[in-house]
Amino acid sequence: YQRLRLILGDQLNASHSWFQDKDPDTLYLIAELRQETDYVVHHVQKICAFFAGMQQFAQALNTAGFNVLHLDLDDTQAFNDLPHLLTVLLDVHQIQHFEYQLPDEYRVRQQLAEFSAQLRISSQGVSSEHFYLSDDELPRYFSAGKKHRMEAFYRKMRQRFAILMDGDGQPEGGQWNFDANNRNKLKASDLSSVPQPLVFSNDVSEILVRLERHNIKTMGQAHSSLLWPVNRQQAKELLDYFCRYCLPLFGTFQDAMTGQLKQRGNNRQWSLYHSRLSFALNSKIISPQLVVDTVLAHYRAQQGQLLCAEPRIDIAQVEGFIRQILGWREFVRGVYWLNMPNYASLNALSAQRSLPSWFWTGKTQMKCMQQAIEQSLEFAYAHHIQRLMITGNFCLLAGIDPDAVDAWYLGVYIDALEWVEMPNTRGMSQFADGGIVGSKAYAASGSYVNKMSDYCGSCHYKVSKITGADACPLNALYWHFMQQQQAALGNNPRNAMVYANWRKKTPEQQQAILARAEECLADLEQL
Ligand code: FAD
Repeated sequence: YQRLRLILGDQLNASHSWFQDKDPDTLYLIAELRQETDYVVHHVQKICAFFAGMQQFAQALNTAGFNVLHLDLDDTQAFNDLPHLLTVLLDVHQIQHFEYQLPDEYRVRQQLAEFSAQLRISSQGVSSEHFYLSDDELPRYFSAGKKHRMEAFYRKMRQRFAILMDGDGQPEGGQWNFDANNRNKLKASDLSSVPQPLVFSNDVSEILVRLERHNIKTMGQAHSSLLWPVNRQQAKELLDYFCRYCLPLFGTFQDAMTGQLKQRGNNRQWSLYHSRLSFALNSKIISPQLVVDTVLAHYRAQQGQLLCAEPRIDIAQVEGFIRQILGWREFVRGVYWLNMPNYASLNALSAQRSLPSWFWTGKTQMKCMQQAIEQSLEFAYAHHIQRLMITGNFCLLAGIDPDAVDAWYLGVYIDALEWVEMPNTRGMSQFADGGIVGSKAYAASGSYVNKMSDYCGSCHYKVSKITGADACPLNALYWHFMQQQQAALGNNPRNAMVYANWRKKTPEQQQAILARAEECLADLEQL
């Protein structure tokens, strides 16, 4: 072969221009590597999903007539890391030119840049052709250290890509953002309409055996039948299912959480109206453009029908969903690239504590935490508000070291890749970046959880109480956090009311609240 092209596990993009022509002198390499299974402890389903996706992608390329070398952990065990493997393969196949798609993780991009720099043959890093914004364009929208605001960025993206825009440059529907319509709780009467999630049954038993054989340390529940989409057809089916059954109420119940459906003996509670497309997107099995265009086409087709058998979709749902992909997803990527590698060590609130061990078991008496963690371990998935306002909020209030929080999130979720995980975790959820991603710390007491979920009703702790051994720990922890962080958060006008309410409490009340918080913090394990 003349040329070697490397395809990483999160670069399963069949539409890439690499695959437009078949060159008999090009060899494509897809390899399972210890450096990727071991850089953090992953959820076992996450490794299975990536390995199954890689296998299917290799097979599809092979069937289409490309020369593919697919190596599994057995084949690569003799190599220390990716550069070692590449060095040997370039030599064995007498390759003249090496190409790779720019990795989305800083760690791997550095590694390949250094590797290429010392090569004696020519090499090239090319775009992964996945995102709306290419790597070269990011500095036009983002600067290092700057506190960017997603909403301003999102409007630029809507205009630039002419998405949900009227002809005259105005946002369709007269508003840029319909978030205010998106804050409903699921009432008991809403539960029976929650759709059954579409799941797949991909046989990953061989992968599981391989992980065992190589002693790969993992977390979470293993299933030989993987429910996540691992190829393009499955990803498209999931997208279609989302448009039909989830999109009509996506925005309405975007922030809602329930434990009731699980108690009723079925498992519809875990994804509700969410798309669960994040793995398919982040592995690049499908592109953000395909998702946005499909959603828009579905919405327009429905608008064109006088009579419609499916539930009607309104603009608030469509806008809310597109904002996540065209807005948030591209936004956090820009923040990541313009701020790495510094971003990975930011700890603006000097948080130092360790994560309690129940983050790996779900064995806590706090119902909300138990539900979010158990579900994460069972499905490698939690939806955004569970990540931000349940587990994330707890870590924020308890002052958990952002390195530990990052490692947990980077491991546990099916979609966790550092470029998207870190700005969301360290930035949005832990405020460790001092406000680069979000304009405020997402801190909340038990009353938020009670407002958006039905968890509190069956909790060991009382959400109505702030002090006392049976009081919801989040209540005292919230006040304690706001007190401790007054220097960092007190100047934000959005917190003025909070501090005013604190000052209204008597010194005795304040003392009792802080004492209850200290008691919780002294032994997080027992909560
Ligand atoms: P839906 O609710 O159906 O949303 C559709 C799509 O929008 C998602 O698939 C995703 O691609 C995109 N999206 C939504 N919110 C965000 C966001 N805040 N940032 C970037 N993209 C977004 N997302 C990841 O893809 N990987 C992560 O590792 C990750 N870690 C997170 C950690 C924390 C602490 C928080 C608060 C959020 C994190 N998110 C992460 C964002 C978001 O929670 C997930 O993208 C979403 O829950 C995935 O489920 P879904 O596909 O059903 O999403």
